[in-house]
Amino acid sequence: MTEIEKRQDRSPVPSAFDYAPAPESREIVTLEDRYDLFIGGEWVEPNSGEYAPTISPSSEEPLAEVAYAGAEDVGSAVEAAREAFENGWSDITPAERAKYLYRLARILQERSREFAVLESLDGGKPIRESRDVDLPLSAAHFFYYAGWADKLEYAFPNRKPKPLGVAGQIIPWNFPLLMLSWKIAPALAAGNTVVLKPAESTPLTALLFCDVVRQAELPPGVVNIVTGDGRAGAELVKHPGVDKVAFTGSTDVGKEIQRAVAGTGKKLTLELGGKAANIIFDDAPLDQAVEGIINGIYFNQGHVCCAGSRLLVQESIYEQVIAKLKRRMGTLRVGDPLDKNTDIGAINSKEQLEKIKELVAAGEEEGAEIFQPPCRLPEKGWWFAPTVFTNVAQSYRVAQEEIFGPVLSVLTFRTPDEAVEKANNTPYGLSAGVWTEKGSRILSMAQRLRAGVIWANTYNRFDPASPFGGYKESGFGREGGRHGLEPYMRFE
Ligand code: NDP
Repeated sequence: MTEIEKRQDRSPVPSAFDYAPAPESREIVTLEDRYDLFIGGEWVEPNSGEYAPTISPSSEEPLAEVAYAGAEDVGSAVEAAREAFENGWSDITPAERAKYLYRLARILQERSREFAVLESLDGGKPIRESRDVDLPLSAAHFFYYAGWADKLEYAFPNRKPKPLGVAGQIIPWNFPLLMLSWKIAPALAAGNTVVLKPAESTPLTALLFCDVVRQAELPPGVVNIVTGDGRAGAELVKHPGVDKVAFTGSTDVGKEIQRAVAGTGKKLTLELGGKAANIIFDDAPLDQAVEGIINGIYFNQGHVCCAGSRLLVQESIYEQVIAKLKRRMGTLRVGDPLDKNTDIGAINSKEQLEKIKELVAAGEEEGAEIFQPPCRLPEKGWWFAPTVFTNVAQSYRVAQEEIFGPVLSVLTFRTPDEAVEKANNTPYGLSAGVWTEKGSRILSMAQRLRAGVIWANTYNRFDPASPFGGYKESGFGREGGRHGLEPYMRFE
């Protein structure tokens, strides 16, 4: 047993406020034994003949077999999307397109409990989050872009917006249905058809979405879902029939994709990693700030590209903030994602758990001080206790690299200038948080921080009307808002 594992194995602190289990029933979800590819409105067996199980990270139980698309399968999906684009979808009136999007939004709302349970089962995130964040936001994205579908000329006055054609979209495992919605809603609103590849470890809500597509009677081929691993993603990127590539995932794969589309004329948006600074000034409302720190790093087990994973605290309030933070961490409940009381669910995959453990071990070796509240982790499945590192130097790996887990690194600063310098000392530039009671300080910090999204006195807030995206190694292009339509259009 490693040092970290020993610490995590300690018994829970006895508390007068222990919670009884409050599991959400999984009865609402009907899983097939095996899923094929969704191409041209039909379930199609993969030419590759390959299937692989998708595993529940909280129980290690195989949930279903899922098809692995090969080059030929990806080709068929792109062909189906092209045919749908040329024979109908690009010609129907924008108001008709809007109706389909409204239908998708309403069906997602109606079936939200089923989707939320499936998301937590397949990905390990707490049901409270999939129920209260992922699902409402997914439906909201379809509602929002349904509203734009027949108003594109107003969105881009004096420019004649036209759809591009077929969009190839690749999404990660941290917000499977939400990322699908971020990708599909603006693409369809702009008049494109899509081929989407979900992540290998979390394909099930995308496959259930195919059922919604049918229920909404979308013309066949407008939405195609090809499951598989990175090879299917690479085939989609390089397919000559794809006009636009949209990718969310790691910076390394993002760079590979950028190289693959260079010189092809394909439009590209990349939403990649981050190492955001959450900056607490000494005039901030501390109790709210501590809630913001907790939400910033422990939401979705820290599997969040914009997670506030570097905490910058003004030196004069350091002791106070750390004491409050540790106390609050002790109240976080780690465990069954389907339990409505759970705050931190399972780590999405064994590989991700290994990556987190490796970086945490590096943090300890480099000299940072680790704190984990006592908590007993379930025997089966992949888990990691909420963790905070203090005494962190800027050069440490835990201050530089994206951990993508429930691990926070704390640094201090004395002046706003020092805070800006430290916050910007990263190859990433996706998000940041500023906590202060001074409006003028919020505005001046927002101008100086090199991050695409800056939250003030809150963290991890999303709205379909608000554009989201990064600078530097966090990628380029924006999703959400009117800005999110532009990458899916050309202008005459
Ligand atoms: P990846 O970037 O590998 O995966 C993202 C998506 O891209 C998945 O659908 C993946 O397929 C697909 N993919 C993989 N290789 C290629 C390729 N060569 N061409 C096209 N598509 C490809 O992320 P990982 O899942 O490997 O996670 C690794 C790290 O990336 C994490 O630890 C985290 O730091 C970061 N990450 C960042 C995310 C973000 O939101 N910015 C999201 C997820 C991860 P498949 O999964 O089937 O292999």
